[in-house]
Amino acid sequence: MGEESRIIVDDQASVPLPPRWSPSSLNTFLKCPLSYWWQYAQGWRSAPTSAMEAGTLVHGVLEELMSLPPQERTVDRARDSYGIQAAELAERLDPRVDAADLRARAGTAMTSYFALEDPSTVDVVADGLEHRVEAEIGGVRITGSVDRIDFAVGGVRVLDYKTGGAKPRYAEAYWRQLLLYSRMLSEEGLDVAEITLMYLGEPARVLSRPVPASALARAEADLERAAEERATFDETSSWVARTSGLCGHCPFRGVCPAWSRSAVPVPGSSESTRQLDRNSAVDHRPRQPEPSPAEEPS
Ligand code: SF4
Repeated sequence: MGEESRIIVDDQASVPLPPRWSPSSLNTFLKCPLSYWWQYAQGWRSAPTSAMEAGTLVHGVLEELMSLPPQERTVDRARDSYGIQAAELAERLDPRVDAADLRARAGTAMTSYFALEDPSTVDVVADGLEHRVEAEIGGVRITGSVDRIDFAVGGVRVLDYKTGGAKPRYAEAYWRQLLLYSRMLSEEGLDVAEITLMYLGEPARVLSRPVPASALARAEADLERAAEERATFDETSSWVARTSGLCGHCPFRGVCPAWSRSAVPVPGSSESTRQLDRNSAVDHRPRQPEPSPAEEPS
């Protein structure tokens, strides 16, 4: 864990924080609450990158491939699906994205996939692809989308594709994500016997773990603690900035009081916002308010 400092923010332009968490928003918060505030209260998102778009493309191709009958999950079918989805992506690709790098990453991931697994041997459970989950854990609502659920010895396996390589600095957050999915799926009556990270970048590998009750309890406690802390930070407009090695990749570091060596404007002030507006690594896309339960589609 890195250094922590308290940062007073200007919330005049903030929007209400989302009532539902997701494993990825939880990971953002745990990594650095101030970064979470910029994203969820102020509406700043990372601009699209080749890594993000390659991830979307590969996930789409693998979802389509795994929805076929097992004997039809061939390299040729994957190639066809890749061609169609890559062409669709090219039409809407943000000009800031390095298209050649995107193709290289996606190509590596697809090659790795077939080296790591024979898709004809996978027994996907019904509705087990991009499966939406939602539950209340310790009074906190959480939702998400599981890449794949298939049958394993003694229950089901929850699997997440990662189009990057296996990097230890992200591993804890990735395992927490799968543990929370397991917890949410248990509410649907599924017995999760195994969680798996399939890394398709360099180095490519498949890592699996059982789901002990102690690990589930830790993930639940992380969620509950984060929800309590977030409520306090939001009420006081005083957020923790948590510096770490990950700050080097943070798009807010130029305007972050905890990171910058020189004085920076108060986060959320018009001057801070002007500076972020000039930063091509972020886009301002405030999230839509969530519908109230009465307005939600059934
Ligand atoms: S630079 Fe570091 S401390 Fe500042 S917001 Fe980003 S992650 Fe947090």
